[in-house]
Amino acid sequence: MPLTSMADIVGPARAAGRGVGAFNVIGIEHAEAIVTGAETAQAPVVLQISENCAAYHGALAPIMTACLAIAAAAAGPVAVHLDHATRADLVHEAGGLGAGSVMYDASARAYADNVTATADVARWCHDRGIWVEAELGEIGGKDGVHSPAARTRPDEAAGYVTATGVDALAVAVGSSHAMLTRTAVLDLGLITRIRAAVSVPLVLHGSSGVPDQDLAGAIAAGMTKINVATQLNKAFTAAIRDRLADDARLVDPRRYGAAGRDAVAAEVARLLGVLGAAGGAGLAGGAGLAGGLGRDGGPGRDGGRRR
Ligand SMILES: [Zn+2]
Repeated sequence: MPLTSMADIVGPARAAGRGVGAFNVIGIEHAEAIVTGAETAQAPVVLQISENCAAYHGALAPIMTACLAIAAAAAGPVAVHLDHATRADLVHEAGGLGAGSVMYDASARAYADNVTATADVARWCHDRGIWVEAELGEIGGKDGVHSPAARTRPDEAAGYVTATGVDALAVAVGSSHAMLTRTAVLDLGLITRIRAAVSVPLVLHGSSGVPDQDLAGAIAAGMTKINVATQLNKAFTAAIRDRLADDARLVDPRRYGAAGRDAVAAEVARLLGVLGAAGGAGLAGGAGLAGGLGRDGGPGRDGGRRR
């Protein structure tokens, strides 16, 4: 069960109107914390590694291999996903390492170029059983070039999915990447219209800037995969900053790293509840994780496996 295909996580969630939490990994502590949070919430989860994260580590293989190992040891379903790859060669590398899904991002290109490049990547991936997400509409943020006012047109989205063959679509509906405040205003009516026009699951990027009630509203309107990065980084860094401020003599990274990891796990579990993914709803048979999870001394965090 643990290392699971994205289709097996996202497909049932879309059919049931639940969200799927997809959380960005920076270091190995993030991956451990995200899986612990998902186990606590009894929810399936997605570990995702961006092209920028691979660049930070100097290579994709070390961090992706770690995520695949953590997923394989998890108590519940975990998908490992390459996020925001602008280069096809990185997609090929991720597939070779064992990633079951990728996001190929050609959204900065003109529409026709985006379609051609994405269709090529989708063909390569589908020949190998890999799930493909793509983006249309240029979700704002980070570099300040794209406006959070960008919007995906429902008719264009439907044509794009047909022309490229992608399995999921990231759409621009008012969110923006890397927001430190949760003040984004989503266009819920547009989500409803895109959901009606498009046959594949929809993905919300920049979800860290969206208040809890609007995340729930976006899912009710038809959004499925909810990507969260900055919100976890805020929790991780605040906990470490507090821990270090409390003790000027503390030098062991395991001690302040654990504080960051615990904060991320708690926020992941909380957000999975907001997304309607908690409580075993997304697991096989809806019966929750067998055997009692970490809280009961099972294979989770309290069992010491990841300490
Ligand atoms: Zn994104």
